[in-house]
Amino acid sequence: MKIVLLGAPGAGKGTQAEVLVKKLFLPHISTGDMFRAAISAGTDLGLEAKSYMDKGQLVPDEVTVGIIKDRISQADCREGFLLDGFPRTLAQAEALDTLLAEMKTSLTAVLNISVPADRLITRLTGRRMCRQCGAIYHLLYNAPQKENVCDVCGGELYQRSDDKEETVRNRLKVYETQTAPLIAYYQEKGLLHEINGDQPINEVMVELGQALGQKWS
Ligand SMILES: [Zn+2]
Repeated sequence: MKIVLLGAPGAGKGTQAEVLVKKLFLPHISTGDMFRAAISAGTDLGLEAKSYMDKGQLVPDEVTVGIIKDRISQADCREGFLLDGFPRTLAQAEALDTLLAEMKTSLTAVLNISVPADRLITRLTGRRMCRQCGAIYHLLYNAPQKENVCDVCGGELYQRSDDKEETVRNRLKVYETQTAPLIAYYQEKGLLHEINGDQPINEVMVELGQALGQKWS
């Protein structure tokens, strides 16, 4: 199975990707990990990617696509793979299709884990950190005993600027603007499965399984 997994920041994509690759025995191809691997292996494309990242610039599509091509041409990807974090744009999706066509294959499914924006904002703005000892809390998943007070040292808790609502809203907006055309593209090809990500992790997994014709609980 050749799968693309999509999901906004905070949708739980990372967690589901880890479970999916274990259940399906697929290599997990995450662009972040691949960039790091290509850079540490010192491949031409890795060095090129690094030169952009060092300047704080986005890595151009042709470099990213080249790194993906190297990876999915490897033997362990012959039976399938799970792509996580790629494609991010319509141009990348088209490049991926061209690449797969050259390899005489195609995608099996595109899974989009979707969560309403207000739920994503609650998830992404809930993190709190201790000013004194750096302990991390989350108002939903790991709340401190006493509001705004660190359980460990009694220090004051604060919200990092990255986690503030305005910043989070901007991040989500950028994601949506980038991926909306991608989602339409895969929908048109009949590959897209919308998965309700606003439910317990196990139930999301069951829905992912159904979309892939797998029965697991
Ligand atoms: Zn503390």
